[in-house]
Formats: sequence, structure tokens, C-alpha cells
Amino acid sequence: MISLDSPIETLGGIGEKVLEKLHRLKIKKVRDLLFHFPFRYDDFSNIKKIADLAAGEKATVAAKILNIGNKRTWKRKMNITEALLEDETAPIRATWFNQPYLTQTLKKDLWINVSGKVSADKIGLYFPNPVFEVLGPEPHDPTSPNSSILRSQTEGLRGAGLHTGGLAAVYPETQGLTSRWLRLKIKTLLDNIKIIPDFLPLFIIKENNLVSLDKAARQIHFPKTMAEAEEAKKRLSFQDIFLLQLHAQREKQKIKSRAATAISIDLDLIKKFTASLPFKLTDSQKISSWQILKDMEKPSPMNRLLVGDVGSGKTVVAAMTALNAADKNYQTAFLAPTEILAHQHFKTLNQLFKNWPIKIALLTSATKKLLKWNFNRNQIVVGTHALIQKGVEFSNLALVVVDEQHRFGVQQRAELVRKSTRMSTRINADDISVNQRLDQRKSALVPHLLSMSATPIPRTLALTLYSDLDLSVLKELPKGRKKIITKVVSPANRDQAHQFIENQIRLGRQSFVICPLIEESEAAIMSEVKNATAEYEKLSRHVFPHRRIGLLHGRLKAAEKEAVMQDFKNKKIDVLVSTSVVEVGIDIPNASVMMIEGADRFGLAQLHQFRGRVGRAEHQSYCFLFTESGTKAVADRLKILAESEDGFKLAEKDLQIRGPGQFLGKEQSGLPDLAMASLKDTKLIEEVQQAVKLFLGKSKIEDHPLLIERLKEFKQEIHWE
Ligand code: ADP
Ligand code: MG
Repeated sequence: MISLDSPIETLGGIGEKVLEKLHRLKIKKVRDLLFHFPFRYDDFSNIKKIADLAAGEKATVAAKILNIGNKRTWKRKMNITEALLEDETAPIRATWFNQPYLTQTLKKDLWINVSGKVSADKIGLYFPNPVFEVLGPEPHDPTSPNSSILRSQTEGLRGAGLHTGGLAAVYPETQGLTSRWLRLKIKTLLDNIKIIPDFLPLFIIKENNLVSLDKAARQIHFPKTMAEAEEAKKRLSFQDIFLLQLHAQREKQKIKSRAATAISIDLDLIKKFTASLPFKLTDSQKISSWQILKDMEKPSPMNRLLVGDVGSGKTVVAAMTALNAADKNYQTAFLAPTEILAHQHFKTLNQLFKNWPIKIALLTSATKKLLKWNFNRNQIVVGTHALIQKGVEFSNLALVVVDEQHRFGVQQRAELVRKSTRMSTRINADDISVNQRLDQRKSALVPHLLSMSATPIPRTLALTLYSDLDLSVLKELPKGRKKIITKVVSPANRDQAHQFIENQIRLGRQSFVICPLIEESEAAIMSEVKNATAEYEKLSRHVFPHRRIGLLHGRLKAAEKEAVMQDFKNKKIDVLVSTSVVEVGIDIPNASVMMIEGADRFGLAQLHQFRGRVGRAEHQSYCFLFTESGTKAVADRLKILAESEDGFKLAEKDLQIRGPGQFLGKEQSGLPDLAMASLKDTKLIEEVQQAVKLFLGKSKIEDHPLLIERLKEFKQEIHWE
């Protein structure tokens, strides 16, 4: 018996070359082949007698080869294989191009199935390039339920009924491994496996009307009807989403089961702080702050994501929670993705707390010497992520704030918690044993974690890949913000847009010019850099020769990037040409124009982020979208952006149009195709959410060894472990 975990080559008949191709399709184990799913089906289920055929229809017939031969067309130098076929009702012709070897398989007097579209020429009906399958020297009645066509048997004649007559699975192929080959191998495999054990708990299968894994695996490859294919697909998508959600829920439980410092809310303090602000908090800010403070009152660690559009005021919410902790003498680490943002936050916090006795420290690469510094006397330490990577030690860390933490996954967040825990535990390596040290780590207090992001998460993703997190949302922008005027501009009007920027510069403003995105790869970064450099040269030589132009791209060193951004911030640059690396979160209140070239290359959510870079102050701001693509689909997509400022709505649209990839961190790009596709399926995701709840409420995962095993494998498959 073949085991699902055996290497694929144990199947036999797989040479070195084929093996290489299989590996390219990421098929290494027997299981991988079984779970290599078709992405569509050719419908050959219309089984007919030849006399009943009509031109234009797709059909399958069983017929005998009356004669067959090759001929060459002298004009186009092509080989044509021509066959005359006949069943008991009528004859018909079939032709194939440039496959002279077919006559070695298709011999006179054999019965074959032919499937394909029926065409007509001057002489009559024929099958051009049909799919075929040899039945043998005897006819099989294709309309009988016992026919090999319907039953897809592999016994007797090889391949009979697998490729014609019914729904034929079409697989993602790599050169040389055809769907035909895959179908045959998978069929042989399925015939040799008694039953594929189901890892989903039975009550979940029943409750959700799912088919068993065994049935699903057979049906997805060889469905009799589209309904069967759909049934299989649903079961298989369900199980992947189930695993994803289950994993996230378990991570959540794991974190919640650890101990954290419970920090009570000091209402007077909060009131005094809000009263000291030069503005009134928005309703969302109040609600979110309350949710966060409430979380931190508990003796288990908070793991919350604060989402709010650019400019919605996340910083002040974080500051308020840090203040509540500082008041009880607990420390906060405030992490930013770049030095420049760390500086910005440091300044902002100093401003917010200028009348408060709060000590704030800034830790950047320039202050590296301070790494072993004891932060006892500082209640807030602002720095880049290096703060956790370098193992800075705090004496009383209770809260970690991570700003601009978009596009990250369950695994990374768990890692973040681990690292910040280490940061809060001082372990003296000299005088305790390894075991003692481990014990100390386990019992260490986990700091509360507040992540902040400007990228709205579509609901389906929130329920799967982010369901380990609690969510707070800043729904509205503070009052009085001017709407950013967004326009899709035709390339013919580029000069006008440049003129517009010139006028803005005369008014004292600044402008961004974003260059098109090129897919992520080493070579692509180079061409992106080339693109941006060319645009920079063009603008500085020909368009704005009298203005100061800056250039920002992925090939610059971190310090160089920071320097350019700093110059832009300090108004030493009028127009900043940049690739997509232009830093999120950076505050350039004086910039009023965001011009985006090749806008069709970006997702709506990302364009929305770019747009959020301007309009941060009182100046009326503008966003111009350029595209060379003249298609209606692109125009429609960009119009959505011009008409909507709702980040969540844009994210949902983006998910439907471009898929989930852009919302996921690197770690998640390894998700199976089916799981990726189902992340768009709200109904399914909600169903699974209920199922996971039911499962966790009703039983212990320890009682389901197959599920544990599958979850472990799954994590390995998608490289989460
Ligand atoms: P983001 O959510 O993008 O991080 P910030 O926290 O940087 O936004 O806030 C953007 C600007 O809005 C800051 O200058 C901040 O002082 C201001 N701000 C925050 N909350 C309010 C409010 N409720 N009313 C008016 N301005 C506010
Ligand atoms: Mg911010």
C-alpha cells in the first residue's frame, strides 16, 4: 500500500526528468500529488451519437477508426493526421495537426472516444484537434451507465474514460507534464489508496454538510458533475481555512494564558490628559482608547491592532495608554519602522507630554552605545525595531507599541511577543542554571502589545489570518480635514499636471512623484531604480530645471533614504521622485501634490496609502493618477479611488479585484491556491469561524490526533515552522 507520506518517486514510472518537473510543481510526496488540484474542467459530458451532432457543439462520441493517415500540406509545411470514424449511426472526420506519431496509437479498426468541439466545412462535420482516448477493439456503449467512459475505469485499457466523456480535470501544468499525464497518475494512485483518513472532527463535518476528505479528494479530480466538483472544492477550502483559523485561535489562547502586568485605569489622569490636548478626541479615538485601557487592566497580555487611516490620530491614542502605564511606573517601548519615524514620534510625544513629568528616551542607530543602558529612569523609550532585535533590557516593561505594522502575520506577531518578553525579563546568565533560566522565561510577564496600522484589513482576512488579534478601528478622521482632490489624468495632460505642480511650488508647497511598481524581484528592483532615475533626470533637466528634485529608491542605503526624507521634510527638496519605498507614516505637512505614474500597477489600498501622504495640513491637496493602460477595467478601478476615501471599502474592493496577496506578509505567500482563493469568500469564512468556535467550545484538540498532525504538517507546508 502506498502511504501519503512516501516520496513521489515510489509511485513508479517516474524517471529523473519527470521527478524534476514534479518538484517544480512542488510535488514531493504522494500527498502533494493527490492535493495538486485542477483549476478547471473540460466538459466532455455531452455524449452523443454521430448522427445527432450539430456544428458548434462540444460533444463526445465513441467511434471506430475506419482509416487513418498522415499527409503534409505543401503550402504551410504542416502535418495533418486525418481519420475517418464511424459509429452505428454515421461517419465523421477527425483531424490533428503536427502530431504524425498519433498513427502509432490510433490504428484502423480500434474504437476510440473523441471529445471536442464539432466544426463544419464544405464536406461536412468534423472534429478539429479533439481529445481522444483508446477504448479497444470493441465498442463501448457510451450511454450505458456501465460504460468505461462514465465509470472512468483504469483496469483493462490504459486511460480509458479518464480524459474524455465527462468532466476532465485541467491542472496547472509545467512544460512536459500534461493534465493527461497527471490524471492518469492520480487515478492510479487513488485506485491504490483504500481510504484517505479524515482529520476534521466528525461533528464538524456533519454540522457543515461537508463531504469526507476521501470523497472530496476523489471528486475533485474525477467529478461526474460540476456539483460534485463544487462539493469537493468546498470541503477542501473549508479544511484549509479551518486550519488557519484554528492556528490563530491557538496562538491567541497561548498568549492569553501567559501572565501580564495588570494596570488599572486612572480616570482622572486620562481626563486631565485629554483636557490638555489642543483638540477634542474623535468618538473612535475615545472608544479605541477605552478598549485598550480595558485590555491592560487584565492580568493577561493584550494583543490588539489599532487600525485607522493615515491622519486618523493613532499616535495620541497610544500616547494616552503609555501615560496610564507610566503613571504606575511601568515602561513603554514605542517602535517605529524607520529612524525618521522614530524621531518624529519622539518629537510628538515630547510635545504631548511637555507639561507632564514623563521621561522619554530616543534610541536610534546613532545612539547605539546606549544599548546596554538601563532604562529604569525612562518611562517611554522610542526607537526602531532594532530595539527588540538587539535585546535591549528594560526593568519594568509593560507595554510595547508597534507603529505602522501592516502586512504581517500570525507567526511574526507571535515572534514579536516572544522577543518583547525577552526584553522585559532580565536574566542573569552567570549565576543560574539553564533550567532555571527556562523557568524564569516561562513565568516571565508578557508585555501588552499594541500594533498600529493604516492598512485596513478586509473582514475575511481579519477572521482568518488576523483572528489572533483584537481589533480597534478609528473610523473617522478628525473634523475639518480637507478632502484630497483625486483625479485620473490622461497621459496627454502630463504637461498640465507638471505646470500644476510648478504653481504649487510657487505657493510654497512640495510634491511627490511616484514611479511605477515592478514586481518584487532582484532584477525588478533594478529596473524600478532605472525607471525612477530616468524620471528624476527628466524632471530635473527638462521639466523643473530651476527646482530642487530629490530621488528615493530601494537601492539607497537606509541612512541615505533617511537623509533624503529629512531633506524633503526640511523643505530642501521641492519635488521628491520615489519608487514605492517612500516611507509610510512620514509627516510632510507641506506637501500638497501626490502624482502617481503607472497607477494601474498598484493596488487600491496602496494607492490610498500614497494619497494619505498629502493633505496632512491645512493646504488643499491633490492626487493625480496616471496610467498608460487604456483599458476600461483599469479606468473603472482607478475611478473607485477617485470617488472613495473609505479605506475599508477600498481594501474590500482590492481584495476582490487583486486577491489577498497584497495584504499578507511574506510568510503567508506560501498558502495553497485554494486557501488563497477562499480568502475572498465571506460566506465560507464566516461558516468556518462558527465551526472553529464550536470545535474549541466542545472539544479539546488533544482528542484529535489526526487534526494535530495535519495542523503540524500544514504549518510546515506553508513554512510557518
Ligand atoms: P496617524 O493615525 O496617521 O498616525 P497621527 O497620529 O500622526 O495620525 O495624527 C495626525 C495628526 O492629527 C496629528 O497632527 C495629530 O496631532 C492630529 N490629531 C489627532 N487626533 C486629532 C483630533 N481628534 N482632532 C484634531 N487633530 C487630531
Ligand atoms: Mg502614524
